[in-house]
Amino acid sequence: MLKSVFLSNRFPLVSFLLIVMLGSPFISAQAQDEPPVQHLVMPGDTWMALSLRYGVPDTILRRQLPHLNRWREPVIGDVIEIPGAQPERTGRLIRSFAGGTWSTAVVEGLNPWAVALSNGIEHPYRPLLGRPLVVPSEQILREFPPGFVSLDLSHLPGKAGEGMAFRAQINRSTLSGRATLGTETGSMFVNLEQNRLIGLLATGAFFRPFAPELTIQIDGEPLWVQPWRFEDKEWTFNQITLTGEAANISQEAIREERARLFELWAIQTPNPQWRTAVSEPVNSYLSYSSFYGARRSYNGGPYSSYHEGLDFAAYGGTPVFAPVSGTIVLAETLYVRGGAVIIDHGLGIYSGYYHMSEVLVEAGTYIEAGTTIGAVGTTGLSTGNHLHWDLLVNGIWVDPGAFRERDMACWLLDGWGTPCQVN
Ligand SMILES: [Zn+2]
Repeated sequence: MLKSVFLSNRFPLVSFLLIVMLGSPFISAQAQDEPPVQHLVMPGDTWMALSLRYGVPDTILRRQLPHLNRWREPVIGDVIEIPGAQPERTGRLIRSFAGGTWSTAVVEGLNPWAVALSNGIEHPYRPLLGRPLVVPSEQILREFPPGFVSLDLSHLPGKAGEGMAFRAQINRSTLSGRATLGTETGSMFVNLEQNRLIGLLATGAFFRPFAPELTIQIDGEPLWVQPWRFEDKEWTFNQITLTGEAANISQEAIREERARLFELWAIQTPNPQWRTAVSEPVNSYLSYSSFYGARRSYNGGPYSSYHEGLDFAAYGGTPVFAPVSGTIVLAETLYVRGGAVIIDHGLGIYSGYYHMSEVLVEAGTYIEAGTTIGAVGTTGLSTGNHLHWDLLVNGIWVDPGAFRERDMACWLLDGWGTPCQVN
């Protein structure tokens, strides 16, 4: 190692001093001459994991993304430079917060002496004091929450106004925990039979894009935290003029309806109720007449509200289908939403179909994808024939069109360990 440094480097003294000062073989002459590796940050690429993977001290890596918070990890979705990267090391990183190599290895079902040896630790009884251990394996070296074997995100970068998720393979059965994204609280569901876990996150239409931290806490163990880069969506603007009777709507009735629906949307059925990808709820429509998240101004007022779903302009009487299976939890006529059907798809995901001229299903029934649930109309607070389709994840309205286009339904089923069936 040292011999090749002296032979190939143009400044052997500098190299020699660096090695002496750092006391480690991190910087080689060859690496100094090569351009830095461009690395796209993925979940689990913590400074510690990147340092071990590329053989570069984390103090050098951290200079790529300086931040006031010295604990802040690399931002998922950003590209960072790795100067002086060595050939990549593989393995599974375990951060042991209590105990030593011995107890950590036993919990993981490994030979403590072999783990100590491969990590350059003299004796497995030595306390680790938070030092990470790398268990030899062929997998990319990343740092996941305790009990996670893998972790991936539905969006890279994240997108404001969308229903998003993470999914993981897990290696232990007692997993309970919580997930948050910035100030939003997510939800987590475990499929014990398949050793799978799904976390659902949602950001509303007024979510300000930046790099909020995704935090995951499992069985009371320390938090796993990594920021996630977000980008904004392109929003449209609607100016709406309300005249005559429409201007005299009851704010009290609007509030009551909302409060009742939010109680319903708060219930989280712990299993997916769908089996296929999502289709559109109407086969023949004229156009999308208003998009999710459109900023709305009423009678020249400020753009202080947004459109909570996707509108399909269609002729009155056009059949409306369930775009994916689930259990009907509401089927009646409402003040604002008119002829309404709400479907529980499981995992806290609900879809709604409003302003229909008739409702053809009953609350409490499970329906397959493609079942006719009603017909396009202009009931409730509506100015013409259209279907308003909305989607909620964790009680937050998200873009149903984006959910369908990104095939989130099959991505989630895959994460749950259930094959996505063809419609
Ligand atoms: Zn609408």
